[in-house]
Amino acid sequence: MTYTHLRDRSFYEGIYDRTTVMSGRIDQEYFERAYHEFFRILPDEPKDSDRATLYLNLFYVVFVGNDLLDRYDMRSKRVDEMMAQDKAKDAQIATARLTNEPVCRHCGKTGLRITGKMLHHKDSLGEPEEVLFTLTCPHCKKNTACWYDGSQLERHKTYCPKCKAEMIEKDTRKEKLLTTTYTCPACGHTYKDRLDLTVKEREADSDFERDRMIYCLHDEKARQELRDGKSRYEGMAQLGREWKEKEDNKHIYDAVAALKKLKITELSTTLAPELEKADYIEFSLDRPEIGRDVTIGFSCLDSKPSRDDYDSTKILKKTISTTLEDTNWRLMSDGIHYRLGYLSGRLRAYEQEDELIKLISKHSRMRSHHQNGGNI
Ligand SMILES: [Zn+2]
Ligand SMILES: [Zn+2]
Repeated sequence: MTYTHLRDRSFYEGIYDRTTVMSGRIDQEYFERAYHEFFRILPDEPKDSDRATLYLNLFYVVFVGNDLLDRYDMRSKRVDEMMAQDKAKDAQIATARLTNEPVCRHCGKTGLRITGKMLHHKDSLGEPEEVLFTLTCPHCKKNTACWYDGSQLERHKTYCPKCKAEMIEKDTRKEKLLTTTYTCPACGHTYKDRLDLTVKEREADSDFERDRMIYCLHDEKARQELRDGKSRYEGMAQLGREWKEKEDNKHIYDAVAALKKLKITELSTTLAPELEKADYIEFSLDRPEIGRDVTIGFSCLDSKPSRDDYDSTKILKKTISTTLEDTNWRLMSDGIHYRLGYLSGRLRAYEQEDELIKLISKHSRMRSHHQNGGNI
């Protein structure tokens, strides 16, 4: 009984495309913000003027198109990499051999029979997985799990918070609720921990196939149009620098720059590596909530089993605050929640009010330029 990791290619393409759709939708929301901002600054601009078309196309490329093209161009390579990783896992399992004769953990006899192999983290979730053998004892018929060198899978131990003796654990399950009762054999201290095993139904994503077509650029014509847009934009960036020097259009660039600062992909690439250094892994962001402010939930796992909830929360808080110091993102005051090594919280983007005020005050100046025939 060895389970294999490698699946067919379409499985990995599905994973990749789901991420593309998710980030494409987020980018699209940012583009729409830029769109509204443009007409807030220029309320009298006709929606189909040359200037509006030019700017809105530019915004689309900057906020959405560039990322989509990058993800399209990387797709095949990333799918190959994911497949290679799973192939390597299968090879790791297939070639694993026991180097020492394991002993039955129940009766102490040898001659156990291998019934399965799987990959498992040995000490820390941050380290690569190792092959764990499951074996059955021919004498007592019970199971033992061990690593390649015959050493047994260590059970996670809990110690009494009062007297430090090892607690006795007992699990009871009532439908989807798992209750673990910890009892101290030395001082009698006891407490319960409850875990809700209800699997949250993934919301049916009825727009997925439609959005996959849009964001994954599976349509060749749409893809080519976007590439053309991108090369036009690259030419425009040069023009933009000239315009910017004239100050005529600076406010529009400022507005876009302020919005672009909020981009969530950047938030993730800034935080994840810093958190990993502090032993928090699998950092992920939820869907942003865009209202007056932008807020976004996040979660990660503590990969250091020795850290308790107090230290884990404190260190995570400090790491996030230090990392985000120079950005316009802050940890929200509702704090960090900790549950069995799983941490979650929320971040909020502060849009710089003074920048918005600047935009409004430039509005009148820009209008006079416009009337003087300052056409883009
Ligand atoms: Zn045995
Ligand atoms: Zn105790």
